[in-house]
Amino acid sequence: MTAKAILNATALALLLAAAPAFSSDTLLVPDRVWTGDDGVAHTGWAVLVHDEHIAAVGPVHSLQIPAGNTRIELRGTTLIPGLMDIHSHVFLHPYNETLWNDQVLKEAEAYRVLEAAEHARATLLAGFTTLRDLGTEGAGYGDVSIKRAIEDGLIPGPRMFIATRAIVATDSYGPGPKGFRPDLDLPQGGQPVSGVDAMLAAVREQIGHGADWVKLYVDYRWTNDGDSHPTFTLAEIKAAVELAHAAGKPVAVHAATDAGMRLAIAAGVDSIEHGDGGSPETFALMKQHGIAYLPTLTAAEAYAQYFEHHQAGQAPTPRMQQAAQAFRYALAAGVTIGCGSDVGVFAHGTNWREVEWMARLGMSNTQALQAATVTDARILRKAGELGRIATGYDADLVAVAGDPLADLRAIEHVAFVMKAGRIYKQPATP
Ligand SMILES: [Zn+2]
Repeated sequence: MTAKAILNATALALLLAAAPAFSSDTLLVPDRVWTGDDGVAHTGWAVLVHDEHIAAVGPVHSLQIPAGNTRIELRGTTLIPGLMDIHSHVFLHPYNETLWNDQVLKEAEAYRVLEAAEHARATLLAGFTTLRDLGTEGAGYGDVSIKRAIEDGLIPGPRMFIATRAIVATDSYGPGPKGFRPDLDLPQGGQPVSGVDAMLAAVREQIGHGADWVKLYVDYRWTNDGDSHPTFTLAEIKAAVELAHAAGKPVAVHAATDAGMRLAIAAGVDSIEHGDGGSPETFALMKQHGIAYLPTLTAAEAYAQYFEHHQAGQAPTPRMQQAAQAFRYALAAGVTIGCGSDVGVFAHGTNWREVEWMARLGMSNTQALQAATVTDARILRKAGELGRIATGYDADLVAVAGDPLADLRAIEHVAFVMKAGRIYKQPATP
């Protein structure tokens, strides 16, 4: 660039900065601000956003507010960090609409991609600005395209951390083989492998195609007794973890049994999903090894509603009681517990159900909100960028009606959504 060109560029930049119409400074003025750091919602605070980042937060009169800013009043609301759900399936929809087998076997992949786009939109508008999506459940690498379409601005949706196809043990997941003609070669809900070499090949393939996380199903209901049992050997899981970590990718495992969780811990995984059958000793080991826990409490409730005639508020089913017990063990052991709901099993955009479950089972409202913000960000290794309202953080901000620290149900009523400084939902101006 010539000196004159630099001068022109500078003059243009100054012009743009001075013209209000081009202002990239937005001042958000809610009734209160919860930053994610503690149990206080600050009355009279405001947040200044510049481009994609948070420029300042504090008492509105203390902020240095650039001239020409856009001021948005968010009366009656609390501004909180964008919420996260780090166990989702945007390619699934509730099983009382369509059984899982029928989704995987009868819905064309093109149709499922369109569904996933709609699910991503519903998620973002519900105030969930980040998802970790743990497997496309038979929709191949469709999540790579959903993530790209969101990043390109083609469709609205949350930030996506994706696991692509997920890895299952041969004949352990589904659809089938049980319940189907044994000579059918059915499309699968994950990538089936057997043996260390096949495991390594699948990890390479998935990371090569864009996986942010590697997801393994280390136990499942695959034997003829109907109970969950380990599916992989320690050697197979260890091989996956070693390769994923060498590539800088963390590993999440589905484990519903204590034995499966022990294998996962011994292999050095990064997060354990579900954990229903975990013993206090096993959760103590997770704490010791710094392995995060995503309890998926709402999935347990949804299964009970769909298949055991359970209704919300009724006495929990044995399966729900087991999930609740595991959650309490983890909480008592001091395990890092994030918000991960298994949404997709239930309706996208109702991810708040998981936050409310965690509070119902023993977390304070502050802890439950932190699980869905600062804690999830830490599990995602994004603690310096996401999950808090602080200077320099990505401007993912949500305003909820009321004060969620006093009444958590406030998160069901989202009035304003901003992701990376861009507004996706705001109150109608009077
Ligand atoms: Zn799941």
